[in-house]
Amino acid sequence: MEIFNGSFTQQEPLSQEAINAALQVLHSGRLHRYNLKEGDAGEVALLEVEFAKRVASEFCLAVASGGYALATALRAIGVKPGQKVLTNAFTLAPVPGAIASINAVPLLVEVTENLTIDFDDLEVKAPQSDVLLLSHMRGHICDMDKLLQITNRHGIKVIEDCAHTMGASWNKKPSGSYGIIGCFSTQTYKHINSGEGGLITTNDPEIMAKSIALSGSYMMFEKHLSAPDKAHFDVAKYETPNISGRMDQLRAAILRPQLKELDNQIARWNERYMIIESSLRRVEGLQIIERQTEENFVGSSFQFLLLNRSYAEIKAIVEGCKSRGVELKWFGQDEPIGFTSKYDTWKYIPFQKMTKSDRIINSILDMRLPLTFSLEDCKLIATIIGQEVERKKPFERNG
Ligand SMILES: *Cc1c(COP(=O)(O)O)cnc(C)c1O
Repeated sequence: MEIFNGSFTQQEPLSQEAINAALQVLHSGRLHRYNLKEGDAGEVALLEVEFAKRVASEFCLAVASGGYALATALRAIGVKPGQKVLTNAFTLAPVPGAIASINAVPLLVEVTENLTIDFDDLEVKAPQSDVLLLSHMRGHICDMDKLLQITNRHGIKVIEDCAHTMGASWNKKPSGSYGIIGCFSTQTYKHINSGEGGLITTNDPEIMAKSIALSGSYMMFEKHLSAPDKAHFDVAKYETPNISGRMDQLRAAILRPQLKELDNQIARWNERYMIIESSLRRVEGLQIIERQTEENFVGSSFQFLLLNRSYAEIKAIVEGCKSRGVELKWFGQDEPIGFTSKYDTWKYIPFQKMTKSDRIINSILDMRLPLTFSLEDCKLIATIIGQEVERKKPFERNG
């Protein structure tokens, strides 16, 4: 039996261009974003201009992490302690964490077999909240036009969590440009890598002025190039608490060359994704996550469902794959481990029974597709998964 020897957590090295840019910052000693020489815009301010352009947004702010971006977005639109914030039941811990960090309360919405938010459940819960923190979890994008019809009808503001959709779009409009605010992560496992980091985009000048002040601008907001004009800071500069979470020049310096390469990287991710998808499509009892034609996704990770399998059966498949070098993350296991976590393990939020989502989340298997995988690696990974799933047929079918 074939065994896969690659690592699901090995990223590509940074390009020489990025390394040179980092060295230049290190040689300068000017690492703080506002520590600029006369006439120097700084790496952070330039990254913000370039990223805003990339996602067709008016303004951009670079911050310390994706999670910080989410919490800042919630603060910037004025979410108050105790207020309910709608969010998908299937997401990762930084999302409910950002809501809880400002003492607001996540109100979970069911997910569909496409791993996107369930519009019927959203309709039911919409009257209870006026903010939706929409997580494009694992890069699956819901019908954004339909979503906005619902949220607009209910007067709900949408913040998009684009941790897995940087570079993706719906109907040719960039992910992150549908909501009032888009939040991105530049953490190592996302689409551009600075170890930690985040980006906030919006067209709303008041929201951007507030976000900049929140991030800790020390009255240096005039050094921002992707920001509204000075007048918008007249109130924000006195009334906004400083919750330091700026990005530094070093991280911005290594992100700028990566942003230029993003489209090439997306093509490489999707090549790998499609190899796995077409191979697993032929496997009986395994459900592929379908994409809509409007969805231009980034296949930086792969998910499939094993619906109608018991806990023991899925466990056996996960173990079978693992013994052959293919590490699948299983969101349905009893204990959250290795970046997975299920909503019912977030004990800091009020318990909510999510019957529809349980069936789906319990059967999701997930893996990253780092670009260090060759196309041959992807074929082998799909072969191993297919064999393990078919070998462990549901008990009833075995008779
Ligand atoms: C990674 C991630 C974030 C942001 O996380 P940071 O580690 O704080 O950058 C937000 N949402 C989702 C779904 C994520 O996977």
